[in-house]
Parts: sequence; structure tokens; C-alpha cells
Amino acid sequence: MSRTSTSRSSEKRLLRYVDIHSPEQSTDVDFEEIASFLEHLFPSVRFRIRPSILTSVRKKCIERISERFASARMKDPNKAEQSFEPMYGEIDYERRTVLGEARIGGIVYDGRRLEDLFTSILGPQDLREHVSIILTDRLVSTYSTDDLRHHLRTIVCGFPSIVSLPGIVEAPAKPREYYLMKQGMELQGAGDVQLQELKKAFEGRFIDYGSPKTTEVLKGLALQGVLFHLTLQPFCDNKRCRLFNAHWQEDLIGSQISSGKLCAKHANVMRRLGKEPAINW
Ligand SMILES: [Zn+2]
Repeated sequence: MSRTSTSRSSEKRLLRYVDIHSPEQSTDVDFEEIASFLEHLFPSVRFRIRPSILTSVRKKCIERISERFASARMKDPNKAEQSFEPMYGEIDYERRTVLGEARIGGIVYDGRRLEDLFTSILGPQDLREHVSIILTDRLVSTYSTDDLRHHLRTIVCGFPSIVSLPGIVEAPAKPREYYLMKQGMELQGAGDVQLQELKKAFEGRFIDYGSPKTTEVLKGLALQGVLFHLTLQPFCDNKRCRLFNAHWQEDLIGSQISSGKLCAKHANVMRRLGKEPAINW
């Protein structure tokens, strides 16, 4: 081996650790199964299941972190940047979520603001060899320059990447007929029982809360997070590929469950990266 190639290979930055942070409150997902799916693809990388990111918030920082969660709320979907002064009640609610005293749900957070917030909770990390994937029970949105609106997301790729569990249910749209039928039923004053029956009629065409398929979907999303870290290109246009960024539930199920595979191009990419998880940026 020549001198040059030796020095080059020593400069190569290889991914060594991936920390998968459990969500704040969900317990019905098999995180070990997600880690072992990724381990199989990247045999040299250590995948570690970590407790929720909130367990890393130091006592003296609780007030400041709660304020930042409250300021990260997405209140106006038409505004790229949210610039609202949080109200006392909002900060207080966030404080209780940080302490595990209030249930998280229903509020949408700006994904980029959450990314900054999670970065500061994680503290300094060597991004060259360390990936963090934060699973969260919060709903997360990012602004799209295509239609100048915020949209709910299943994953916000970044440093760290954020995967939203309720986003799996709420971000990709359900079949159009479902919304039409739901609207019709609501106009006729249908109650919860009838709406549950409607959901049943569409079984298999979207992922609902508590679905056993969630773990399978999370495997593909976590893989997108790892690939983003390595290549900055986590998505694929092929609807049968695990890297497809689905905007419809039926496409999410198609790519992550019915297919459950990578397209030929990405299977190749993975064979290469699996042998040598080099960071290409
Ligand atoms: Zn692909």
C-alpha cells in the first residue's frame, strides 16, 4: 500500500455508534428488534438503546428546557419561523412533560427547533463517529418551500434525527375515501363507536396508534436516520424501497411492510456501507 493510500484510509471517518433514544412514554414498540435489524445491516456499528432524551435533562436546566419546548410549538403553519412568546401555562405544561407528570400529545412542534433543543440536551458529541436518533411521542412538523406550509413528519433528518411515533399515524395521509366517509359520518352526528367501526373498515390501509406494525415501520425510519448521517441522502423515489419518504399511509405500508426491502440501487449502497460505514460529507 502506498503512503498516500495509507494516510487516506486513516483519515476515513467510520461510524461506530448509533444511539437510539426511546420515546418519552410509548412502551408498545420493540426497540431491541429495531436495533438488531440495523445491526444486521451494519455489523461493525454498535447500536445502543438509550432511555428517553428527557432523562438527560439536568435538574438545574428544567426551567430553561421547558421554556424552549414551549417556544418550539408550531402555532402558525403558514410561517416558516415561529416567533411566539410562550405563555406561562404552556411552559408549565412542558415542565410537567419533562418531569414525566403530564402526558405528551396533541401539540405540534417545529422539527428544526426540536433538533436544536435535543442537540443542547445531548451535549457535545463527536458527529464523526456517533449518530443519535431520537424517538419521540411529540408531533413534529417542518416547513415546506413547495407549498409554503408546515407539514407533519414521520422523520426529521438532522443531527440528531428525530422520529415521531404519532407522526407515523398522523403525517402520511389516509386514503381519500376514509376522510370523505368520516366527514359524512360526523355531519350525521356519528359518535366514537361508529368512527372506530369506520377505522376497522379501513384496516390494513393505514397504521393506527398501538399497531403492531409500528416496530416494522420504525426500522425503515431509523435506517433513513442512519443513512442521512452517512450520506445526507436518506430518501429514495422508489415506492417499494424502505427509504421511500411516504406522504400517504398506503405508500408507507407499501414500502415498509408489503415490500419491506430496499430497491436494487440501495441494496447495493447498503452492501458497500455495511462493510465500511464511512461518512461521506
Ligand atoms: Zn431505494
